[in-house]
Amino acid sequence: MREPTSMDECVYHTIQTIGKGKARLWVLRENCLECGKALMSKPKDPKTGRFKTRSKEYICSECGHTEDIEEYAEKLNASIQYTCPKCEHKGELEVPFKRKKTKFFDEMKKKEVRKLALIFNCQKCNEEIKVIKLK
Ligand SMILES: [Zn+2]
Ligand SMILES: [Zn+2]
Repeated sequence: MREPTSMDECVYHTIQTIGKGKARLWVLRENCLECGKALMSKPKDPKTGRFKTRSKEYICSECGHTEDIEEYAEKLNASIQYTCPKCEHKGELEVPFKRKKTKFFDEMKKKEVRKLALIFNCQKCNEEIKVIKLK
């Protein structure tokens, strides 16, 4: 499992406490899906030469192919390290970064809300573990 050395390498990264357990999930940037020659990155501001960190798109510096970041992430794999909230098993796995709407009890709002989540099962006790999209 490839771990990021900086947040820069990640399309998405989150660490969440889930009951007695926790999960760290990340999605690494990959080479362009069109030409495969360059790592997808945020577009650069032509004036300053700096990356536009708030951009909602990635661009390939070789062929100019662009991808919406959310859509791009769904084509990639997520790496997960977790401690199961039920059996406390520590495990890691890779799954496609496909999130779906799920019910989630929001501790702040004290009610159930629907959120996008990546759902996987504990490799030991099969408990369903949800990593919620927080923003
Ligand atoms: Zn390309
Ligand atoms: Zn478990």
